[in-house]
Amino acid sequence: MIPRIHTGKYLNSEANARRIFNIEQCFGSSGQPLVIPGRVLVGEGVLTKVCRKRAKPRQFFLFNDVLVYGNIIIHKKKYNKQHILPLEDVKLDNVNDEGNLRNGWKIMSPSKSFVVYAATASEKKEWMAHIRKCVNDLLARRGISQSTSSDSPVWVPDSEAKTCMHCRKSEFTVVNRKHHCRHCGIVACNACTSRRWLLPQQSSKPIRVCLTCYHKLAQETASSSVTRTYTVIATGDGRNSSFEDSSDDDDDVTKDGSPAQYQYQDDQLDMHDSHFQSYD
Ligand SMILES: [Zn+2]
Ligand SMILES: [Zn+2]
Repeated sequence: MIPRIHTGKYLNSEANARRIFNIEQCFGSSGQPLVIPGRVLVGEGVLTKVCRKRAKPRQFFLFNDVLVYGNIIIHKKKYNKQHILPLEDVKLDNVNDEGNLRNGWKIMSPSKSFVVYAATASEKKEWMAHIRKCVNDLLARRGISQSTSSDSPVWVPDSEAKTCMHCRKSEFTVVNRKHHCRHCGIVACNACTSRRWLLPQQSSKPIRVCLTCYHKLAQETASSSVTRTYTVIATGDGRNSSFEDSSDDDDDVTKDGSPAQYQYQDDQLDMHDSHFQSYD
């Protein structure tokens, strides 16, 4: 597939507007309205996204202003768990092939960062080129440069941490759960993530950080001449259930906390359709 540059004519294309409307319908009431004047669907396809517990297929839609992805309930028909990343904030970074994990790259933004894998090297190349082009075109169109706000961390998958990555000794149990530092992304124990810090790009409430990040953030704030509003909540041993990381696995659980009903199966996917598809 040869990447195509969309022209002014395409911007007004009825077919494109219909496709966007159709995607909006697929997300149903669980998603935001996607039909916006001037928005163009540039490409779509299935990528394997590294989530907290394992890697899972996710449907991605690249528009000329946002990158949208969601959970596949019925391929090409129904999606949920919609996430929208404004492209002006999106940065990409290569991930080297390692064992079975091939054709990956990082998608980073202030609100969310993660690793995805494409089925083939050429698909990876196409996705990355298309996303980069959309970002650059958008910045040029708006006459702005990419914001300097720091990206949220890519979370270390649970499986990569046998012991706490902060104190290096605490072993995980049912009580001593795995938590992620929202500032550096490591997996750490209750005690090592007992502090909260306000990271406004990720949440309006103070969120869990490791002790190293906590002290670093506190120092930065103290040494900064600018007065910043921040809230610190010490949470004791972190065993209080209200501090459980219910938001940790937002890819797995529905809003009411019950597990997602449908587990996506590889064999239900027509591999031809899953490949990156760019529109012209
Ligand atoms: Zn620890
Ligand atoms: Zn940290």
